[in-house]
Amino acid sequence: MRKLNYVSLYGFTVRAIHSQVAIIGGGTAGLNVSAQLVRDGHFIPQQIRIFEPYKMHAYQTGWTMVGGGMCKVESTMKPMEKVLPKNVCLSDCPVVRIDPEQNTIRTMDGQKYTYDQLIVASGVQRDYASIKGALQQLENPEAPVGSIYYYRYAQKINKMIKEFEGGKLIFSEPPTKCEGIPSNIVFLTHERLSNRGVKCDYHVYKANDCVFGIPKYAEILGELASEKGIHWHLKKRLIEVQDHKVIFEDVETKQLYTSDYDFLHIVPPQKPASFIADSGLGDSDGYVNVHPNTLQHVRYANVWALGDCSSLPTSKTAAAVMAQTPILIKNLIRTWKLKQPPLSEYQGYTSCPVYTSNKKVLLAEFKYNKELDETFPVFQSSDSKVMYLMKKHFFPFAYWQLMVRGLWGGRDGIRLFKGV
Ligand SMILES: Cc1cc2nc3c(=O)[nH]c(=O)nc-3n(C[C@H](O)[C@H](O)[C@H](O)COP(=O)(O)OP(=O)(O)OC[C@H]3O[C@@H](n4cnc5c(N)ncnc54)[C@H](O)[C@@H]3O)c2cc1C
Repeated sequence: MRKLNYVSLYGFTVRAIHSQVAIIGGGTAGLNVSAQLVRDGHFIPQQIRIFEPYKMHAYQTGWTMVGGGMCKVESTMKPMEKVLPKNVCLSDCPVVRIDPEQNTIRTMDGQKYTYDQLIVASGVQRDYASIKGALQQLENPEAPVGSIYYYRYAQKINKMIKEFEGGKLIFSEPPTKCEGIPSNIVFLTHERLSNRGVKCDYHVYKANDCVFGIPKYAEILGELASEKGIHWHLKKRLIEVQDHKVIFEDVETKQLYTSDYDFLHIVPPQKPASFIADSGLGDSDGYVNVHPNTLQHVRYANVWALGDCSSLPTSKTAAAVMAQTPILIKNLIRTWKLKQPPLSEYQGYTSCPVYTSNKKVLLAEFKYNKELDETFPVFQSSDSKVMYLMKKHFFPFAYWQLMVRGLWGGRDGIRLFKGV
């Protein structure tokens, strides 16, 4: 639903379209923030504009289950118009530039937009192309190379596991902002292949220097892995994929290691969209440079960011988005409408559920400075069946039935009005 205020047919000049709130990205963060802004009655929907080029919204968390053979890809996608709050404006052309001094946004088709408040929620891009040969092998249906980080490659991983007849399995991880997600597919693959009695040799190559960034969970996962015969190789970064051969680089010494493989899972390097740095909004890594406790941009008081594209120094997860959303909304309303300073409320809460088998999940929950912040400590001293049931059945329900309606408050449960 695109509304042009004015188009001059003579000079081909297109007048800017104004919105009170512009949201770049209609992923988990963009959707959650727009749904809560509308539900809490802060704005009429027509005053909010979302920029999102994709026609389908993806519940990316579900791609782990697709790869693990626990659900079909169709249950992880819905058309954008079915999940967006009613009557918010949608621009389906990618944003290419922001001018934060002039409060303007430019999209790829040359259209200009203006805003009072800007929320950047553009996620991260998955950079398979930065690993030489990776895309060629991922796209080749015959090559035993897949990845849960993209739905088609997640379907391929599921098929690879079903058909695998034994040999050497390699799982590669670049430096990642959420270490729990990659471990899921390692354990799920192990479970399915052991159940079929397939003889396997498992190797995980991580660029990071530990199994998991939080010592408690690193210990639990490390022990489970060694019980299952999974070998970890730390500080190794995948740089090239060939037919049944991979090349890793030691991140410190730069020494190269080669290995053969019969099954390869790749976690892609991830990076923020280039328009963020090009527009002068990025930190040194190109993430939107926001204050870690308020989510407000460090230079522009009417610019905000949350989710994977933000500089918030915590694990990038949907669970973190659920915790960030109400704080961002509260601070946006306080600073803009009430002329009060933002509150430093966000303490970095995030959570990473890790499937350790197809019956149990280890729920890791923590905040800034690696501090534990557990909601169900009794079920979090090890992997647990209760957490498994929550992750497999309740979280997808909460996402599709509550979150998209602005009703999901993450670990605060169902939200009633949470105004300022
Ligand atoms: C395989 C996998 C498993 C995961 N498992 C879990 C889990 O178990 N628990 C958990 O909490 N989290 C999990 N996550 C993480 C979670 O999915 C992300 O943290 C979450 O989706 C981040 O939301 P976001 O809105 O920041 O980014 P996204 O959901 O990626 O949305 C970003 C949106 O911005 C749009 N966009 C990008 N560039 C532009 C542009 N230039 N103009 C306009 N729009 C643009 C994109 O099209 C996209 O729709 C998982 C992720 C993956 C991939």
